[in-house]
Amino acid sequence: MKNIVLLGATGSIGKSCLSVIRQNKEDFHLYGIGFGSNVDKAQEIIQEFNPNYIFAAQSQADRSHNFWQVNSNILSNEDELQGLIQDPNVDIVISAISGFAGLKASFFAIEAGRTILIANKESIVAAGDILMPLAKKKNAEIIPVDSEHNALYQCLPLEKNLNEISKILITASGGPFREDSLSDLRGVSLNDALKHPTWSMGAKITIDSATLVNKCLELIEAHYLFNIPESQIEIVVHPQSIIHSMITFIDGSTIAQMSNPSMEVPISNALGMGKRLPINFKEIDFSELNLSFEPVAHDRKMIFDIAREVCNKKGNLGVIFNASNEIAVEAFINKNIDFVDIYEVIQRTFNCFSCSKVRTIDEIFEYDKEARIQAEKVIKSLH
Ligand code: NAD
Ligand code: MG
Repeated sequence: MKNIVLLGATGSIGKSCLSVIRQNKEDFHLYGIGFGSNVDKAQEIIQEFNPNYIFAAQSQADRSHNFWQVNSNILSNEDELQGLIQDPNVDIVISAISGFAGLKASFFAIEAGRTILIANKESIVAAGDILMPLAKKKNAEIIPVDSEHNALYQCLPLEKNLNEISKILITASGGPFREDSLSDLRGVSLNDALKHPTWSMGAKITIDSATLVNKCLELIEAHYLFNIPESQIEIVVHPQSIIHSMITFIDGSTIAQMSNPSMEVPISNALGMGKRLPINFKEIDFSELNLSFEPVAHDRKMIFDIAREVCNKKGNLGVIFNASNEIAVEAFINKNIDFVDIYEVIQRTFNCFSCSKVRTIDEIFEYDKEARIQAEKVIKSLH
């Protein structure tokens, strides 16, 4: 029986994780959960799974809810979160908080040498230069949950001989605006941007999928997780989301991982750690299958150029890219900027910074703050 701490339990990834755990009760115990503010959802999870520990990040919020009466001993500050993650009874930490807010948890888990299942790609993008060497030093195993990266993880030979890889192909659905040129996207509504054709996910990542910034974050994530130069990583648009990514080896073989789009598939692979866990899934009907592939639209290339620069220069550039995107997406969701201005905010913020090395996690938090302030300034200048 493995004890799991699931951070981001009330979210979209959290829901898929709980489903896999529910289907494999004899192997896993939900030891702790963490969430932001959705106490109704948290209460449902507590009733079903009876976790030993509960971390509520926004505990200063409205305390009139029944949640605060029926549960005693709710953890709420950073030291308590760290204590939970570093509790020796914990076998697996799932990092599934959304956005940069998830970095602290990822850092605590890696620092403690825990096995960490990483959905929170923003941690890796913003702090790859700190987290990857730390994982090596602390012997922390990082297992990818993001469907593309878990696909790559499944395609890699056990000995993981990276010299045998010719290239990595990360697939992209293309999002809801795949067939539109950038100039047609001025004025698109939030609702249109939230209509993802193949995946149902949290709001932030859904907007990232519409701008293709999600694929940029994934390019950087793959670069760090697999230690592969960006020049060996190609993005290919595959609208059906059946092939989740591929590896071409130096002998000309390409291995792909396929499933119908469901996050339960990569999550069960990550949780299984080499063992295939049984889950309910919808089989691919190969007689119905019609797979297509196309390059990324040329007018979105500028955003991939930034991501590739992040991979090549590293240091503070990942945290700046990530922070500018988070501020831009939030402004779009709050209807403060146009959809296409997201690119403008990222590019202009990114150009305000030069590349510097980062040595500590605190420096990452500093650069994040600075980049957010700069991005807000760019937004003001757009009005
Ligand atoms: P979501 O918005 O549905 O859920 C976010 C979760 O994080 C919620 O439980 C929320 O309460 C919690 N949270 C937010 N702020 C918090 C804070 N400050 N402290 C503690 N908890 C906090 O998001 P999601 O779609 O589940 O995505 C989660 C992460 O997984 C993101 O990094 C995303 O990029 C990644 N991811 C998601 C998918 C997907 O299919 N949804 C796929 C791949 C990767
Ligand atoms: Mg993905």
